[in-house]
Amino acid sequence: MKNEYEKMLADIACKVWDNPEPGFCEFESARIQTEFLKEQGFTVQENVADTRTGYIASYGTGHPVIALLCEFDALYGLGQNADVSEYSPNGKEMGHGCGHHLLGTGVIGAGLLVRDYLKDKESGTVMICGCPAEEAGSGKAYMARDGIFDDVDVAFSWHPSNFHAIATGSSQSCIQCYFRFHGIASHAAGSPELGRSALDAVELMDIGVNYLREHMESTDRIHYAITNSGGLSPNVVQAEAEVKYLIRSTTNPKCKKLYHRVIDIAKGAALMTGTTMDVIFDEGLSNTVVNFTLEDILDACFKEAGVPVYTEEDLAYAKRFYDSYEQPVTRDQLPAYVKDKTKLMQDIKTSPICSYYVETNHSDVCEMGSTDVGDVSWVVPTTTLNTACFSYGAGAHSWQWVAQGKSSIAMKGMLKAAEILAMACEKVYEDPSIITKAKEEFKERLDGETYECMIPDGIAPHVL
Ligand SMILES: [Zn+2]
Ligand SMILES: [Zn+2]
Repeated sequence: MKNEYEKMLADIACKVWDNPEPGFCEFESARIQTEFLKEQGFTVQENVADTRTGYIASYGTGHPVIALLCEFDALYGLGQNADVSEYSPNGKEMGHGCGHHLLGTGVIGAGLLVRDYLKDKESGTVMICGCPAEEAGSGKAYMARDGIFDDVDVAFSWHPSNFHAIATGSSQSCIQCYFRFHGIASHAAGSPELGRSALDAVELMDIGVNYLREHMESTDRIHYAITNSGGLSPNVVQAEAEVKYLIRSTTNPKCKKLYHRVIDIAKGAALMTGTTMDVIFDEGLSNTVVNFTLEDILDACFKEAGVPVYTEEDLAYAKRFYDSYEQPVTRDQLPAYVKDKTKLMQDIKTSPICSYYVETNHSDVCEMGSTDVGDVSWVVPTTTLNTACFSYGAGAHSWQWVAQGKSSIAMKGMLKAAEILAMACEKVYEDPSIITKAKEEFKERLDGETYECMIPDGIAPHVL
C-alpha cells in the first residue's frame, strides 16, 4: 500500500479511537469517514435505512458490485488510556474495545485500493457500507431489511482479532426484548390483598424460563437482566416491573419458536399474578450463512499477502500486553476449526502476537454469539477475515484491546486486512465465475428459504 494511504488511514483510525461513540450516535466517526470518502471521489449516501449514521460510499459503475462492510461504534465502560499496559481508565464513558475504529478504517483502505483498480475498468462497483450500531442496535439488519444489499453480488468484511485467520463458522440468531408487567400498588402489610405485584410476575417469569432451559436445544441460549424491579420500597406492592431478555438459537426459525415459548411463560406469569404484560421488541439478528467459496478466495489472498512484519519494538510492545493478562490460553479454548492446534499453541507460548497465518478448516458449525453480519449473509454471499491487531491474551471487549488500538501492531493488522480485502475484490472482478459459484452455494445453503428480517416492520432503528 502507498505510504500516503497508510498515513491517511492511521490518522482516520486514531481520530475515530479518540471519539468513541455508541450505536446510531456515531456522528463524529461517520463524519470523519464520509468527508474523507467524498474527497477521495466516492459518491456518498447518508442516513441510509433511517439509521442516522449509516452510509454507503460507492465508486464505479455496473456489475460486479462488491460490498465491504464497515463498522465504527464503541463500547460503554471501556475508556482506557492508549498504550498503557495496565488498567488505566481515561475518564471517557466509552472505548473502542472491539477495534471497530480499525475495522471501519481498514475497509476504507480496501476501498481506496479497489477504487484505484477500477479507475480504468469499464464495469465494476465497490460499495463501502458504513454500518452503525453493531454492538447494540442491529444496524446491518435494518440496512438488509431496507434492501441496501439487494443488488450486491458478494460482500466481504473483516474483524480485528488476536489471530490471522479466516472467520469461518456460523453465528446465532437472536431476539432482544423487554417484558413489562403492570400490577396494582398497595400497602404491602396493611392491604396486600388489594395489590397485584409486577415484581412477582418478573420473578415467576424468570423461574419459568429457568425451567425451560432443560427442554431446549443445548445450543440455545437465554439471558436476562431485571431492568426495573419496581422501586426501592419493600412495603409497597410493586406496580411496575420490567425484565430484558436476550434469546438465541442457531437459526432464525428456531429462534422465533424459542421467543414464542418465552412469551408464553411471560403470559403465564401475568396470569398467575393478576397483572398485565407488554412485550417491547428491541432488536433481532439473523444467524450467519457461511460461504466456503468466498472463504477460499480470502484464504488464497491471505497466503499471497502474508502476515505483517513486526519489529523488535512491536514485539516488545505486544509482550507488555501479553504479560498483563494472567489467564493462560489453553488448547481447549482454541476454535475447533483451527487446522493445527499444536502449531497455534506453540506460537502462543513463544510469541506475544500471532506470527503466522492460522489455517482453518471450513466450518458451518454455529458458534455461540451473534453478529449483524448474519443479516447481510442471508441476502448476499458474505465472508469475514480476521487479522491480529492485538497481542495474544486478552480478547475482544477488554481494556487491553482499547489500549493497543492506536499502536503500530494495530495499524499493521488494519493495513494488512485492507490489502487482503482489496486483493479478494480484484480476484472477483477479474473472474466473475467466482460470483456464480458463490451464489450457487448460497442458494443451496438457503434451500428455498428467503431472508426474513428478525426485526418486525414497525420497528425503526432506535437507541434504548
Ligand atoms: Zn464487539
Ligand atoms: Zn466487533
